[in-house]
Amino acid sequence: MTAHLNPLTIKRIYQQCKRCVMDTSDPEISFDGEGVCNHCIEFDTVTRKYWFPNEEGRARFSVMVEQIKEVGKDSEYDCILGLSGGVDSSYLALKVHEWGLRPLVMHVDAGWNSELAVNNIEALIKHCNYDLHTHVVDWDEMRELQLAYMKSGIANQDVPQDHVFFSSLYHFAAKNRIRYILSGSNSATESIFPSSWHGSAMDAINLKAINKKYGNRYLKSYKTISLFEYYIYYPFVKKMRTFCPLNYMPYDKAKALKELQRTVGYKPYERKHGESFFTKLFQNYYLPKRFGYDKRLPHLSSLIVSGQMTRNDAQLELEKPLYAPDELEVDITYFCKKLRISRSEFDELMEMPKRHYTDFPNWDARYRVLKKTQDLIARITGHRIRVYS
Ligand SMILES: [Zn+2]
Repeated sequence: MTAHLNPLTIKRIYQQCKRCVMDTSDPEISFDGEGVCNHCIEFDTVTRKYWFPNEEGRARFSVMVEQIKEVGKDSEYDCILGLSGGVDSSYLALKVHEWGLRPLVMHVDAGWNSELAVNNIEALIKHCNYDLHTHVVDWDEMRELQLAYMKSGIANQDVPQDHVFFSSLYHFAAKNRIRYILSGSNSATESIFPSSWHGSAMDAINLKAINKKYGNRYLKSYKTISLFEYYIYYPFVKKMRTFCPLNYMPYDKAKALKELQRTVGYKPYERKHGESFFTKLFQNYYLPKRFGYDKRLPHLSSLIVSGQMTRNDAQLELEKPLYAPDELEVDITYFCKKLRISRSEFDELMEMPKRHYTDFPNWDARYRVLKKTQDLIARITGHRIRVYS
């Protein structure tokens, strides 16, 4: 992570990458002489080094699975898996069953599950005969925190939900002495993301600062995870590791979905992130309307660079509307009801001054020091430490 200029103050002349579909809505994008963007170049020069959709991946994967089985052979569970109901984590849950691992499956219910997501999770759990631990987030706290985020005017409104998902998973794994966290994160479908758009959902300093300034409630049961726990204590002291199996196989989202439908009766969502009602509204309405950030751009670009989609098809996809007008109205009404605000209060929140996460205390300076320390430790021990995101 580098220090960002406040991207809200940068104005660019429109330009789109010749290879993917990223454009100057990422204010920090740069292009080479051929008009290819820095995200494409980073994918080729950095991401590819850690992406093994090939024979080498198969070999590395087998070693890892054997190691997980060996370390956890005397425990009830040998790994933990966070299941959101989305395609990536659902497909991973299905595969983990086939690989003979014994996961403790955890779902964090932050209040925004769609009915379809609940049904999909149930179908998967039943099919794989897993134990499911559902952590239900205190809704009153969650509601206040989400309102505080809306009032703050920052871009990443998904932090309250994302943060509690990861913190719950880590704390629960540590409590149960589970060392391996399996993640559905993968380079095939989500390698490209403009870091200028927003800060990390793991930044508890930022989260607490926003809650303190705009919230009405001290976070009591909402557990955060600190920078120290996330990057040092859990990986080095507790020796917890995050393993992203989908990076060690040719992961194709469309094929994965078909397999889930066939084997588990999984039902697809109409829109990306349809598993969470809030994420759907946030990505398809809040972000593009207030900030001009369309998350389909990095997602489709990721599919282009990993060879799962042509640039032409991505352009056609982008021509589709983000929301059907009547569907949007229904969703806004539901959102207001859930947050106990009126429609006019919602409209006011949508008009809040736009702020950047760096307008509030955050972990950026500490993160840079910590990253350097972590790299040094990794060089000495010879292990590159991966955390969830
Ligand atoms: Zn590009």
